[in-house]
Amino acid sequence: MATIVSRHPHQPAAAPGEGMRDQYGRKIRDLRVSLTDRCNLRCVYCMPEAVEFKPRDEILTDDEILVLVRVAAELGVTKIRLTGGEPTVRSNIVGLTARIAQVSGIEDLAMTTNGVRLRELAQPLAAAGLRRINVSLDTLDREQFRAITRWGNLDDVLDGLAAAEAAGLQPVKVNAVVVRGFNEDAVADLARLTLTRPWAVRFIEMMPFGSVAGFQTNAYVPSRETMGRIEAALGPLTPIDVTGYDPARTYRLAGAPGTLGFISSVSQPFCAQCGRVRLTAEGRLRLCLLRDDEADLRTPLRAGASYEEIRERFRAAAYRKPWGHGLARGVIPQRRIMSQIGG
Ligand code: SAM
Repeated sequence: MATIVSRHPHQPAAAPGEGMRDQYGRKIRDLRVSLTDRCNLRCVYCMPEAVEFKPRDEILTDDEILVLVRVAAELGVTKIRLTGGEPTVRSNIVGLTARIAQVSGIEDLAMTTNGVRLRELAQPLAAAGLRRINVSLDTLDREQFRAITRWGNLDDVLDGLAAAEAAGLQPVKVNAVVVRGFNEDAVADLARLTLTRPWAVRFIEMMPFGSVAGFQTNAYVPSRETMGRIEAALGPLTPIDVTGYDPARTYRLAGAPGTLGFISSVSQPFCAQCGRVRLTAEGRLRLCLLRDDEADLRTPLRAGASYEEIRERFRAAAYRKPWGHGLARGVIPQRRIMSQIGG
């Protein structure tokens, strides 16, 4: 459990040099940067097929993203994860990655991707300074894959995973959202990957968002059910300790080089340890994945606000980070779907 420190609202979030804390004393060290709301797949649980994308002039430019990453790093953020939409469909993704990797204070640069473009991009991204990669892959069955993604080709992702490994992006993590009626029977095959690969395969509970919430709630599969299926097929899961904070509860199958993780955002929230904020593609700082609370940084940026003013806005917004989500009380974020936030 993180220590909870209550502060007066006018008290600075942290002493200079100590990094940034929110109103509950949680250190904010982790920024997820959505590079676009566009995607080259349409996963059924993530976005509707006929989704409308933001006009391009509403999306942050490379230079604007760089300013906000610098500000975040100055405030104590050490870890950046590039996401989307699909980050690899952003033009100049390699050049932008290289610029972000060079920002002083950023120690860890990772990406969450569907893997479709990694065959050609894994090597240049690694050379640009990307350290690690999470590839979203919900099934190893070709038909199921197509049904979930609406038109995706499984081989693109499998080749992408191989390319990521060859490029030295380590550890390779595979993230699967478990969706009833689509892939709940695919979890054992995914878990089996850890018997031959040193990968971290993680199963994520589906979360509800706005217009897709009805489907998401009905097709939700709790982690304990997924664990039961895996143990029934492959034997007992042994819990293992991981160094550092990880939202996944981590296990290993007997003799496996890889690990299995369960990210139970709905059934076992980990809000007490959350030190994460998210920057949407159009420049809003989202303070909790599952709350609609956001701060607009693009408007002041484009209105010519000074660097110091942007930094103070960033710090003040992060300070307001809500304690946690309210799913258990039926509070569902309404304003955005997952592809408009970034996972
Ligand atoms: N396009 C990239 C990808 O596929 O990884 C990055 C963006 S995607 C929104 C990030 C992650 O969010 C993916 O692993 C995706 O499966 C997951 N995701 C999407 N909708 C979700 C939901 N309703 N609940 C939980 N995870 C979700």
